[in-house]
Amino acid sequence: MGMDEFQAVLKARELVRKVNPTAIPLPVELYAKEVGAVIRPQADMGPDEAGSCFEMNGKRFICTNANDRPERQRFTVCHEIAHLWLGLPSQHESLLWWSYAKRPLAEILCDVFAAELLLPYNLFQPEVERASIGLSSIDDLAERFQASVTATGSRYAAVVSEPVAFVLSEQGKVRYASRSKPLKDAPAWIPPRLDIPEGSLAKKVRAGTSFESRDAVDADVWFNDWERGGTLLEEARHLPQWDQTLSLLWFENGEVPGRKFRDERGAVYAEEENEDDALLKELDGQLRWPGKRRRR
Ligand SMILES: [Zn+2]
Repeated sequence: MGMDEFQAVLKARELVRKVNPTAIPLPVELYAKEVGAVIRPQADMGPDEAGSCFEMNGKRFICTNANDRPERQRFTVCHEIAHLWLGLPSQHESLLWWSYAKRPLAEILCDVFAAELLLPYNLFQPEVERASIGLSSIDDLAERFQASVTATGSRYAAVVSEPVAFVLSEQGKVRYASRSKPLKDAPAWIPPRLDIPEGSLAKKVRAGTSFESRDAVDADVWFNDWERGGTLLEEARHLPQWDQTLSLLWFENGEVPGRKFRDERGAVYAEEENEDDALLKELDGQLRWPGKRRRR
């Protein structure tokens, strides 16, 4: 097939540019129109079926499950548009729409594409930067863009400029982690298909032993082979109806801790940022200082 996530994103942006939406929430009908498709909600679809598309007499139809919530149907429309626009055949058999487990690559690419249409970079990223970091901001953005909290959270962490990760766990296992650029660069790696880590807030809220929405956790609880130390803030939420657990992780001061070194005597010292780097950061307009964001 030869397509990867990056190409799917580029193809999605191509369609966004053609339609050039300016209003929030995004009018998905305009995207459908651009690919020559009509949207037909169907009331007789099974609960596990989200949507499909087909051609008849030269006309394209996108069917959504009329019983799904409106934001879910909007995502389905964009996902089906992806099948049409990318020319990727559907592999929807025996797939639960909410399950990330064992999802075929073509389906993942269509989801990535759909998130790009619903939460386009040019409209979404400035809103992300304006909001304070937290699940409640993701709830607000999801509401305004009429997208699911999961899709919005994943996209939020992908575009925010601060070191943030959004983790979706399912049945106690990490299914997906979306990270912002500073965390990718670090690199802070959260391996999928591992158990939700011990000591995380996600583990506690899933077990029902904590209703806390926010906690401080050591960064190496979440990040694999992490040698920089530091403490993350974690907000977690458990969704019992799907046994999904959402975690939002971030460094409160907006900085990834410097790499730690050990000298020949075994003493540990931290990487110092040199003055030239600090100066360059100011000159390129990427100013960072504590208190840049509103805090609650
Ligand atoms: Zn599909």
